[in-house]
Amino acid sequence: MLLRDSYAEVDRSAIIHNVKLARQLAPQQKIMAVVKANAYGHGLLEVVAMLDDWVDFFGVATLSEAVAIKREMPIADVVILGHTPNRLLSVVNEYGIVQTIFSVEQAEILNACPKPSRVHLKIDSGFHRLGFPANAAAVEAIAAICKLKNINVEGIFSHLALAGDEADRLQYQLFCSVVDQLAARGIHFKYRHICDSIAFTRYPEFRLDMVRLGAWLFGMKGIGQTADLREALTVKSYISHISAIKKGAGVSYDYLYRAARDGRIGTIPIGYGDGYPRNMSKNGGYVIINGEPAPVVGIINMDQLMVDLTDLVDAQVGDEVIVYGAAVGLPISTIADIAQTNKNEILSRLTARLPRIYR
Ligand SMILES: *Cc1c(COP(=O)(O)O)cnc(C)c1O
Repeated sequence: MLLRDSYAEVDRSAIIHNVKLARQLAPQQKIMAVVKANAYGHGLLEVVAMLDDWVDFFGVATLSEAVAIKREMPIADVVILGHTPNRLLSVVNEYGIVQTIFSVEQAEILNACPKPSRVHLKIDSGFHRLGFPANAAAVEAIAAICKLKNINVEGIFSHLALAGDEADRLQYQLFCSVVDQLAARGIHFKYRHICDSIAFTRYPEFRLDMVRLGAWLFGMKGIGQTADLREALTVKSYISHISAIKKGAGVSYDYLYRAARDGRIGTIPIGYGDGYPRNMSKNGGYVIINGEPAPVVGIINMDQLMVDLTDLVDAQVGDEVIVYGAAVGLPISTIADIAQTNKNEILSRLTARLPRIYR
């Protein structure tokens, strides 16, 4: 039983629509569904279950996320895209997780584990986050790793900074030059990959053997992207209380909002403790009630927020409130603009307290 009437509703058919579209656009490539950060807030295990028939790999950031998937689905192909500390590499091995590595030291630790380990090598082509630098020493190190008997090097990859066409092409060329130098020594990889969701459509010529799609699956479009993607997430709540307010009276902590006229204030039981950005009221944030926008007023609380209902004369206690919802003209991109952040942050900051329901 749902113990709360504020919740995030996830539309399965939207996620399936988005993955099918990627499949059509890239029939030659493998797809890694990136499901880090609780599948961008949509619920890790539920999203993994719905995508299992549609994708080839699941990508996560951390060992904890990988283990959560493996405990439910031991045969799923799960790649940790981030760093795992040396002391935990035995856990990676035990669960049969595919680990990203970028040092001979980590390769040797995995090589000494009981079972063969599957790894992807990471090349830093300019992002300066993780990876072997794209140079001759790295080619030597990788050649040494590929000789280890108890390691299966399945892939090699890099990540683009998306800093512009010229910079992105330079990164791609640097990555390819490392791959080519290894090929010249007879070292080949099953999966070479560099595209995330934005690069997937911006640079079809960079798709190589696999694309890593996160935002795409949840219907988040990059700037200028025209793909027919569908947003999967709607956040709903309801009006828990309505109070009358006199002109000049304050609302919420510090009375940072004062009513400009006599009117009505509605209370909505959702707050920053659920992941709603605390700065939404400062920048013109609003929710949708009965198809109409209701401005958020006063400082947002941990568990509740207030809206001005003065112009929504029919709004009553119990009415449904759309907090995020592309279907009613309040897409995640608008929320991100108002909160002065990006779409992925709005999604991934939704907390565990907000129940997820699946339709
Ligand atoms: C998060 C992540 C992705 C997915 O990025 P999107 O822009 O959401 O598609 C791909 N690759 C790596 C290495 C990542 O960390």
